[in-house]
Amino acid sequence: MTRWRYAAATDIGLVRQTNQDALFADDRLAIIADGMGGHAAGEVAAAMSINLVREGFRESQSVEGLVEAIQGANAAVLDNARDNPEHFGMGTTIIAIGLTYDLEDMVVPTLVHVGDSRAYQLRDGALRQLSEDHSVAEEWVRMGRLTPEEAAVHPRRHQLTRGVGVEDTIAIDVTSINAVAGDRLLLCSDGLSNELDGDTLARLASAPNGLEMAVESLVSAAKVAGGRDNISVILIEFDEVNVSAAPIHRTMSTAPPPVVTNARPAVARRRRHLTWRMLASALILLGVIGGGVAVIHWYAYSTYYLASDGTTIVVYQGQPSGVLWYRPMMVADTGLPVTRLRPADQRALAATIAEPSLSAAKSYAKYLNKAWHLSRTPPTTTTTLTSSATTTTTLHVAPTTTTTAKKG
Ligand code: MG
Repeated sequence: MTRWRYAAATDIGLVRQTNQDALFADDRLAIIADGMGGHAAGEVAAAMSINLVREGFRESQSVEGLVEAIQGANAAVLDNARDNPEHFGMGTTIIAIGLTYDLEDMVVPTLVHVGDSRAYQLRDGALRQLSEDHSVAEEWVRMGRLTPEEAAVHPRRHQLTRGVGVEDTIAIDVTSINAVAGDRLLLCSDGLSNELDGDTLARLASAPNGLEMAVESLVSAAKVAGGRDNISVILIEFDEVNVSAAPIHRTMSTAPPPVVTNARPAVARRRRHLTWRMLASALILLGVIGGGVAVIHWYAYSTYYLASDGTTIVVYQGQPSGVLWYRPMMVADTGLPVTRLRPADQRALAATIAEPSLSAAKSYAKYLNKAWHLSRTPPTTTTTLTSSATTTTTLHVAPTTTTTAKKG
């Protein structure tokens, strides 16, 4: 049976006036939450999340139980912030290790986390970071835009890209830990990891004088280094002997309402605004593209023209040479033979006779055909032709007879 021993402590540090970190540890579960938000909101978010993850894990000691508990905490923090304007923008990181059961009822140490609180594994004095920070600077390190050294001092190293209570959906990192007896696991908030480098963490967390002393020395060292944030530490040691675990040390936050505002909630608000701005920009862009396509479509099919299909006069809709992917399409066959046009009209037909509408195009075709008939009548009469098209053409039919075609 897998068992661990543990020690835990949380400390306000030397600069902050409240402790917005919260933690919980027992013989199957260890959790740290680093809350953010003014007017006690950070403590509310952290405490709510710790309690909901504890309850969820008690009901289902599985990976799904842990993940669903964090999802439930995320929804609860968001609901609380919506119902209580003074809690607007609150959120928290969360990192937890639970002894979960898999489908074969085997125990697996499972790490779940969101935010920039960290988990490390220690074996034979060597330290390995198990979690990835969900912060802007660390994401840029993973993308190759910053070196780890640049990220450590980058002004956006504290801006979270994920957090509990930030957005309706939440991405949770889940890691199964391959542990052997004697391994230690270190959970901490950024108040520890920002103050101490990896070598110092490894040395102090591996100290052989017991877990409680190691935790105390870690907290003390972080305060000596500056203590600029709340400091929370849980140190676990896997024990191959089947003994009951008992708490060695635990300090839970009972801080009074805060009088200063943590700078980090603005990140959550900015992220939410950013999402809306991105959505609005996308909609405007889609509107512009859609409008452009509509204008091109209108222009491409705004004209009708007469053409010959070899034997009869037909009407096409579209621009004769096409527009982008819009090709002209035949919309009517007048049935009028091309041979029954005067030579000049046949040349005009070959060049393109454009009309603004289908009816105008049909009328003009009839007019051309009628003009051909008139050109063949004896030169003794004067005839006026009327069609519905929009241009005016004067036909000189015969040397002694004038025929006027009035289109209007
Ligand atoms: Mg912190």
